[in-house]
Amino acid sequence: MAKQFLVVAEARGGKLRQVSFEALRAAQLSSSDGDTLAAVLIGAGSKVLAGELAAYGADTIYVVEDAQLESYNSEAYLSALLAVIAVAGPNALYFGHTAVGRDLAPLAAASLAAGQISDVTAIERSGDNVQFTRPLYAGKAVEKKAFTDPAAPWVVTVRPNNIAPAAPDASRQAQLIDVAYPAPSLRSIIREVVKKTSGAIDLAEAKIVVSGGRGVRSAEGFQPLEELAAVLGGAVGASRAACDAGYCEYAMQIGQTGKVVTPEIYIACGISGAIQHLAGMSSSRVIIAINKDAEAPIFKVADYGIVGDLFEVVPLLTEEFRKLLA
Ligand code: FAD
Repeated sequence: MAKQFLVVAEARGGKLRQVSFEALRAAQLSSSDGDTLAAVLIGAGSKVLAGELAAYGADTIYVVEDAQLESYNSEAYLSALLAVIAVAGPNALYFGHTAVGRDLAPLAAASLAAGQISDVTAIERSGDNVQFTRPLYAGKAVEKKAFTDPAAPWVVTVRPNNIAPAAPDASRQAQLIDVAYPAPSLRSIIREVVKKTSGAIDLAEAKIVVSGGRGVRSAEGFQPLEELAAVLGGAVGASRAACDAGYCEYAMQIGQTGKVVTPEIYIACGISGAIQHLAGMSSSRVIIAINKDAEAPIFKVADYGIVGDLFEVVPLLTEEFRKLLA
């Protein structure tokens, strides 16, 4: 029986997040001939983004717009999503494994009594069998999971930066369907969103992350890391020790109790490599560690290690990359 896949797209600052295109691709990889691919845009003024979702493979795009949906609110977004589900009747829901996806996906799964597989990094399909790969124990192991009942609804979240999106085709058209927002009476509302980080590049989706630890020693100590990240077009992250010490915002924390990142290059500066930090970055494609202690555990997971003082090494790297990339 043909299935309908519904991808819950996510936008920030008026732009679709890259993980939305990756989730569309994940749904394509899970589907077979005859299946259909739809997407949903929830948010005030989000309809303008529909064309891009069509270019990346969505055939139908459901749009729920309302002033109440300007900022993410669990109850409001769930209510909008359930209104779309009532119209579309999807068999499978795909989300980015982002803060929003991690919140909304289980709410949707519970509402639909659906099974959920989270933090998926790869999908293999053979006939009717779809197998989802997800990392465990800070990337030290992976597990392969499948839904036991193909007829029951699925909910999947997709880890950013792991499944390459399809090549966009700007000539693709999609059917646009407006869905009325049910405007529930909310138990909580967002009064104000105070942005703590000004970085233009989203840490979770950055291709290059330059991260600082306690070895950075101060808020000013992050300056050379910011310069390196700017030259490389990357984002700046941090260890919890650096956040706890007040050198940077908690929004930058990477690890077990922070963000999980899977960039192509992760540059750890003055970070010892505690297991809780590795939980957030060990699946990075290439890890470069800069630490003045040759015995630091970070070197055990690093592909390249530089034993030295970060305040000497980082500016040298910035200078060389600036010349190379000029
Ligand atoms: P340190 O371990 O103090 O290491 C600093 C490193 O900097 C040292 O290796 C030192 O040699 C090096 N260094 C110093 N000066 C220089 C210099 N000038 N140049 C080069 N190198 C230098 N941590 C996280 O990061 N993320 C988490 O999400 C997280 N969650 C946690 C959850 C729990 C429940 C617990 C108990 C802990 C958690 N932690 C987390 C904390 C974790 O255990 C470590 O304490 C923390 O990661 C250490 O941070 P660090 O490597 O920056 O500091």
